[in-house]
Amino acid sequence: MKALLKVLFLCVTMYTSAQQNDPLLVLGKTTPPLVGNMQPEVYEAYKRMRQAAAKEGIDMKVVSAHRSYHRQRVIWNTKYKTLTSQGHTVKEAIQEIITYSTLPGTSRHHWGTDIDIIDNANPQSGDVLLVEKFYKDGPSSALRSWMNRNAADYGFLEVYTDHPNRKGFAHEPWHYTYHSLSKSYLKTLTNHAISEIAKDEKLLGREFLDADFFTSYIADHLLDINPILFD
Ligand SMILES: [Zn+2]
Repeated sequence: MKALLKVLFLCVTMYTSAQQNDPLLVLGKTTPPLVGNMQPEVYEAYKRMRQAAAKEGIDMKVVSAHRSYHRQRVIWNTKYKTLTSQGHTVKEAIQEIITYSTLPGTSRHHWGTDIDIIDNANPQSGDVLLVEKFYKDGPSSALRSWMNRNAADYGFLEVYTDHPNRKGFAHEPWHYTYHSLSKSYLKTLTNHAISEIAKDEKLLGREFLDADFFTSYIADHLLDINPILFD
């Protein structure tokens, strides 16, 4: 029985690490097994965290979890067409897009490990993912302070902190990652998978995605995140 368990454990470990090294999965081009749009292990941890928060009056709600490459490319191409039709150069359009949106293939949402959450216990309206809604008397501010105290106990960490010197993506008090799984995906992405992205002929503006672009995008957008995520 012990030997059987050992083999089973080995299989799960091998499967998990094969997934984390799979460039197609990391790029969002294939989908990992999902429950509630998260990887099963992430969903289990999320459920426990949600139950604990509920005891303190917080109604945690996921507004975005896994997202495919294809979906991210639709977002990218739509913004690209709008900006270039308004007279922006390719370079300007891309710089504008990457202030708020990720280059397809580089969204942490591709991995099934990252979630955007709000507090549904308070009335919400309009765009629920605005920074001010997570501070002062905003509808998700109790959630944010609860997460500051407790999220790490369930394996979740904030990615885009409000550190004033942080570059790349703006502060996102709603975005959390399940760190024990996502750290390997980030390594696979930045070490080799990312070079595949510029080969996609349906990706608008791809001619601008040269070595210089990727060097600064990796440094500022992908790696200038909460330093705890490198522990
Ligand atoms: Zn997010």
